[in-house]
Amino acid sequence: MDVYRGIPVYPGVVIGPALPLDTDGFLIPKRSVDPGLVENEIQRLKDALSKAAISVRKNQAEVSSKVGSQFAAILGAHAQMIEDPFLSNEIVTKISSNYFTAEYAVSQVLRQHIKEMEALPKGAMVSRTADLFDIEKQILGQLIDQKQQELGNLTSPVVILAHDLSPNETAKLNKQFVHAFATEAGGRTSHTSILAGAMEIPAVVGLGKFLQEITGGDIVIVDGDAGLLIVNPDEEILENYRKRQSQTISHDSSLEQLKSLPAVTKDGVQVRLMGNIEFPHEAVHCLEKGAEGIGLYRTEFLFMGKETIPSEEEQYQAYKKVLEDMGRDRPVVIRTLDLGGDKLATGTQSNERNPFLGLRSIRLCLRNIGLFKTQIRAILRASVHGNVHLLFPMISTVLELRQAKMILSEIKEDLQEENIPFQRDIPIGTMIEVPSAAILADCMAKEVSFFSIGTNDLVQYTLAADRSNEDVASLYNPGDPAVIKLIDLVAKAAGNANLAVSVCGEMSGDPIYTMLLLGLGIRQFSVAPHSIPEIKKIIRMITLPEAENVAREAMRLETARDVNNYLRGQIRKLIPDPMV
Ligand code: PEP
Ligand code: MG
Repeated sequence: MDVYRGIPVYPGVVIGPALPLDTDGFLIPKRSVDPGLVENEIQRLKDALSKAAISVRKNQAEVSSKVGSQFAAILGAHAQMIEDPFLSNEIVTKISSNYFTAEYAVSQVLRQHIKEMEALPKGAMVSRTADLFDIEKQILGQLIDQKQQELGNLTSPVVILAHDLSPNETAKLNKQFVHAFATEAGGRTSHTSILAGAMEIPAVVGLGKFLQEITGGDIVIVDGDAGLLIVNPDEEILENYRKRQSQTISHDSSLEQLKSLPAVTKDGVQVRLMGNIEFPHEAVHCLEKGAEGIGLYRTEFLFMGKETIPSEEEQYQAYKKVLEDMGRDRPVVIRTLDLGGDKLATGTQSNERNPFLGLRSIRLCLRNIGLFKTQIRAILRASVHGNVHLLFPMISTVLELRQAKMILSEIKEDLQEENIPFQRDIPIGTMIEVPSAAILADCMAKEVSFFSIGTNDLVQYTLAADRSNEDVASLYNPGDPAVIKLIDLVAKAAGNANLAVSVCGEMSGDPIYTMLLLGLGIRQFSVAPHSIPEIKKIIRMITLPEAENVAREAMRLETARDVNNYLRGQIRKLIPDPMV
């Protein structure tokens, strides 16, 4: 039995057979299969070799017709190597004698040849190593593709284990059969983790290296409460976890009863609890959990997992559905595209040296005006179906915000000229998620009618700690005093300007921060739908003076550890059961 500790991102306990996935471009870990599956692995290899050869020959023909056969010759040589029976036999031997996965056997054989070539005296062969890397990539690409397709054809429950999953890959997981996932890489607020929450799949990320120890079909436990992955558990552990599974179910049903009760403190302060969504169908789920509106609709997910960029009409239909599901009165905050960073549209690749600091989000939109205008047109057209609020993400300067608003005005004029109806006085808001925007919150307040504090990015940019990198997870902390001071600044600026302010990062769905945020003046929380009942429960147990006192005390502390320990202590006083 092996136990790995990582970062829990969606709670719950799942026991099931492992389905390990390899990642394109990532070193393949040493892994074996059950002896009974050797023939299956050999067949997978043969299919992959033949598909890789076909694909390279297709490229060869294309290059040949476009730029000449002399330039395509190298691809012909690659295809020949892939078709070479000696290479195939070598890999088959590795699989049958060591029970290696096809992926690992391919990588082993080709890396061995690369090493041998590199050891030769400097000469022509050295440059050939690049060809072997390319051939490895082609064959592995086919094998990884096979696994991805297998994912689409699952017929029984599995637990996905991977080095990392992109938000795109996560969005495509079939929840009916993928009951949990665990990854070696990743951080608490990476978009993959946020999606695990949206899809309500128990998950643990940032576990460090474990894949080389896994055989497909091994029984594993994903403990999304404690952040554990247990491989091949013994009978006693299995029994304990089976008991835990039934306790979680009864805990969930106690929170159900809160659904129809208002989010109001013991002394009568009203709080607005809204839902965060990534996909239109989640709006209904928000209502089921008691959301008073959608506080953040991450529209970029419409662009992910798709072969082509969604048209204006397609976007309009998606926004209209959310608005209609939420009804005329409930606000729906539609955020314009926040692509980039760890969220890439299908088929695009980031060439950014620092994707989170580069052409992400509003910056990307302001460089791709056509893309931006299409989305704003779709949102404005949909606005007649409900109560739309428009939110601009990742604003870092006042000028940027003015530019975005100017484009909005242009689209309004266009629609007016075309006699297309839209809601004229849509409230405009800005995300406060870059420290510069928080520091200039008083200036930003003059430009908009609401703020939404995106703590996921605010923490990342304040502490210079990548939100999706497990190696800096200890620095990345919403309880850091620097983050709390910025939230305080923004809440005060909003208060002075009489502006609504909500918090929509994952911090707002974490019960340990509820009292702090309330005490800092936050009256709107936008959280993943599954967190709504827990947060409501806390709100209903406290008074505003208590929350203000907690915030005052927390503001005196100098480290994230002290703040978190203090807040945990406060919540334990309120609810002795640590499961909240
Ligand atoms: C945030 O940064 O807190 C936020 C809500 O936006 P996202 O997680 O999509 O970056
Ligand atoms: Mg953000």
